[in-house]
Amino acid sequence: MTPELSSELVRLLGPGEAEVGCDTCFAELDRYVELELAGRDADAAIPGLRAHLDGCPACREEHESLRALVGGEQAL
Ligand SMILES: [Zn+2]
Repeated sequence: MTPELSSELVRLLGPGEAEVGCDTCFAELDRYVELELAGRDADAAIPGLRAHLDGCPACREEHESLRALVGGEQAL
């Protein structure tokens, strides 16, 4: 997504949950997964990321592989 299109979307949708894009998602995904695996409320800590994962197959795949990776490390 180009920066122009991204800022256009933010302008159209306004601030709120819809503002999480792939860039933000990838930047926060580590923290999100750690919170999830720690049993914390990751949705509250990073609002909108869950919604992005639901709507973005690429990030959802990344989320799942990261969960497997981090969860596997913790199990050892
Ligand atoms: Zn995405």
